Amino acid sequence: MNILLVEDSPVVSMLLKTQLTKLGHKVDTVENGQQGFHRATSRHYNLVISDIVMPHWDGFKFMEAMLVISPQCPIVVISSSVEEETVRQRLTRFPNVIGFLPKPVKADKLKELMERVKSYSTENVRKLARIVCTIGPSSQSPEILGQMILAGMDIARLNFSHGTYEEHHERLMAVRAAEEKWSRPVAILMDLCGPKIRTGEMRDNKITLTPGARVIIQAEPLEGTEERFSTIAPEILPDLRVGDPILLDDGLLELIVEEGGTTEVACRVVVGGALKSSKGINLPATPLSLPSITEKDKRDLAWGQDHSIDFVALSFVRSAKDILEVKKLISAGNRNLKIVAKIEKPEAVENIDEIIKVADAIMIARGDMGVELPAPRVPWVQREIIKRCWLANVPVITATQMLDSMTTNHRPTRAEVTDVSVAIREGTDAVMLSGETAIGTDPLNVVRTMASIISEEESHTEPSDNHCELMRNHQGFNPALAAAASLGNATAVMVLDFKGEIYRHLSKWNRSIPTLLVTNSLHVARHSCIYKNIDPIIIKEDLTRDQVVLRAKDEAWKKGYIGSGDVLAVIEGERLTKGGIAQIGAFQIIRVE
Ligand code: ATP
Ligand code: MG
Ligand code: MG
Repeated sequence: MNILLVEDSPVVSMLLKTQLTKLGHKVDTVENGQQGFHRATSRHYNLVISDIVMPHWDGFKFMEAMLVISPQCPIVVISSSVEEETVRQRLTRFPNVIGFLPKPVKADKLKELMERVKSYSTENVRKLARIVCTIGPSSQSPEILGQMILAGMDIARLNFSHGTYEEHHERLMAVRAAEEKWSRPVAILMDLCGPKIRTGEMRDNKITLTPGARVIIQAEPLEGTEERFSTIAPEILPDLRVGDPILLDDGLLELIVEEGGTTEVACRVVVGGALKSSKGINLPATPLSLPSITEKDKRDLAWGQDHSIDFVALSFVRSAKDILEVKKLISAGNRNLKIVAKIEKPEAVENIDEIIKVADAIMIARGDMGVELPAPRVPWVQREIIKRCWLANVPVITATQMLDSMTTNHRPTRAEVTDVSVAIREGTDAVMLSGETAIGTDPLNVVRTMASIISEEESHTEPSDNHCELMRNHQGFNPALAAAASLGNATAVMVLDFKGEIYRHLSKWNRSIPTLLVTNSLHVARHSCIYKNIDPIIIKEDLTRDQVVLRAKDEAWKKGYIGSGDVLAVIEGERLTKGGIAQIGAFQIIRVE
């Protein structure tokens, strides 16, 4: 069996390892629960043996995390006999614990226990690409959010098309609590509605439209029925002409206008189905003159600035001008709010290069895009945008319906699995979950599934020589980073980058080794959550350069990224050294003792 031994005492660890090796097992050892979790999620183990009292992450925290990721993997607990009784009581909460051994562990007891262990395997869920999860009624508790973070959620999305400020605030606080508990930075992305036309509320949240039936859309809000419902944007009604198509819920349903009017419009149902409250309305043939940033967006943005949000996503961006306008609305000096441009309009696709130049990140919003553009063109647009973002070194999120069927089902369709893999292979930095985690039946299962698809696809990705070459030849590119790009056998790369200026360049190289970003800013750490393969280490104290390296090395060790005998590459950008040398870059290789 492959066994992971989590034990902080080197003597006990050595003794147990010897005994287990004698019994014919392969044993890896780590010193604390966080290291153990890191290791157990990146390799396959059939059994874990763990001590209870440990620094950093104790045995209970480790078991809790393992229960989320690999509930099947059996754990044997070792503990000194003094605390035996209380420990045994607490352990009953953990169905993954299959045995208990008092310390000092006796050889015959260990042998006896090993003979009756049924081995399961842990899953490899370590991934480089990021997962954005929309938070909603199904996922808003700190416990579930914590589990989603462990399973691989990197960014929490608050969709301002749904819910009140109070609800968003509560969700935000819950994300921050979970982030703190599992000591893993998580970014919060607020998604502004933009000029999205939506339906009003429906009676019991859902009505069913039958093909051929007549239905009225009216300006005055009311509880929608099969006969009539309202829209939150009544100003569109006078623009609708007889014969104009009306698409509902990302184009799933279709109506056609039969009678125009300023306060109500009569339509015939062409494609029917269930219609819930607040679903999108798209009017592909109707010329509209809506502003890019609505009054509600401005209010929401102000709220976001008061609540330490990390990213703001703009819907229905048309040109770079829209982004620049929002930049103006963000208070001067607030560098902590980054802008994500949602690409969903044909104009945005046409202006993609200028948008990439001014936005901090791009989102391929395939829901509305598939209605605004012919749906068969969406895959090509996706590929093209990912490629252009790659060249510009701008992070890109691929969004909408990635695991849609999992909103209600336990397993994804094969087509959905392929869709996620394809996006990863094309080089997307992040993939997004919408209704799957906001209103789905099992958001944790969805994140876990997504992480396993990503990690499988990434295990087949070859580091790209072309990309390295491209970066190396890039004008003005830091030579220290170029050196890191050609690195062969290091265990990890550590970037000393307090202000978060250079790490981005390392992210897109399809690297198979972790890039550790050392910063003193939680904001920088959170922003790095949108970049592939960046693991932040936060060091707040004012230390000398060498002390920072030592401290960061310790942290990386504690977290499980490096172990004894490993080779670590340390990279820095521009700085004035203590001796007054104007350094433009530095590259140092150190051995981990
Ligand atoms: P967008 O165009 O910005 O993606 P959307 O309506 O498609 O908006 P998503 O965030 O993609 O919204 O979520 C998909 C669906 O999940 C929504 O249409 C809605 O039915 C549901 N949903 C999402 N967030 C919430 C929430 N906070 N409260 C209730 N329902 C939600
Ligand atoms: Mg939208
Ligand atoms: Mg959507």
